[in-house]
Amino acid sequence: MSVVYIISAPSGSGKSTLVNEIEKLVPGLDFSISYTTRAPRGSERNGKEYFFISRPEFDEMMKRDEFLEHAEVFDNCYGTARKFLREAEQHSHDLLLDIDVQGAEQIKKKIPEAVSVFILPPDRKTLEQRLRKRGQDSEKVIQRRLDTARREIENYVKYDYILVNDRLEDSVELLQAIVLAERLRRSGKALSGDQSKNLAMAERCRLDNVRERVQPILESFREGDSGRAMGL
Ligand code: ADP
Ligand code: 5GP
Repeated sequence: MSVVYIISAPSGSGKSTLVNEIEKLVPGLDFSISYTTRAPRGSERNGKEYFFISRPEFDEMMKRDEFLEHAEVFDNCYGTARKFLREAEQHSHDLLLDIDVQGAEQIKKKIPEAVSVFILPPDRKTLEQRLRKRGQDSEKVIQRRLDTARREIENYVKYDYILVNDRLEDSVELLQAIVLAERLRRSGKALSGDQSKNLAMAERCRLDNVRERVQPILESFREGDSGRAMGL
């Protein structure tokens, strides 16, 4: 049985960066390429980051029940094709899905044993800096992403693991530990020393063990919002 990993994060938190790193480090892990009706950005290529399709094409796929889950995000449609899970299962690989909170909820209903990871930025200011550094969005879009981030972040309690993406090297190590720990848990094999270390690292990211760490992050978003409302 393939393990399905769901990764969600507010835009700009570093999810693509982390997923790219994990792709290089973890063998036997496939990446689902979503279908979307949004236009490609910057250097994005069809079939690499996404399959870029029209709204009528998306509707056709929906009618044919080709999506494992689908959702509307930022006025565009996004969907995970069932075929990626079938292919991963055929190759005895695990599958990683980079999807939003709505998609994560749908997958958890269909596949309760799926593992969900929510990636958080260290605080609102850092998220704003990262969105600017990425250089993909206009000022208006950046403000909209920050507003959306505050609402998305409140959903962290629905996830199994929370990863605060502060130092990139640490985050890569933690995400890798989560993937390996879940594989190990399901294999039922005895643990080596290194594997016990992995399990302990992953455990640090469990929802119940990060609640205190997350509170100041949530606060930074709430303060940022009230500051803007007061014209500060
Ligand atoms: P997302 O996929 O979540 O929208 P990206 O992976 O595109 O975010 O990252 C947004 C920006 O932040 C990029 O310029 C990326 O290089 C940078 N970034 C990602 N993770 C870190 C980190 N841990 N520290 C500093 N910069 C980071
Ligand atoms: P972006 O357009 O910035 O690449 O992605 C916007 C949001 O859509 C992100 O939160 C991303 O995780 C989410 N997303 C990408 N693909 C899918 C998908 O197939 N299904 C769902 N539900 N969300 C997706």
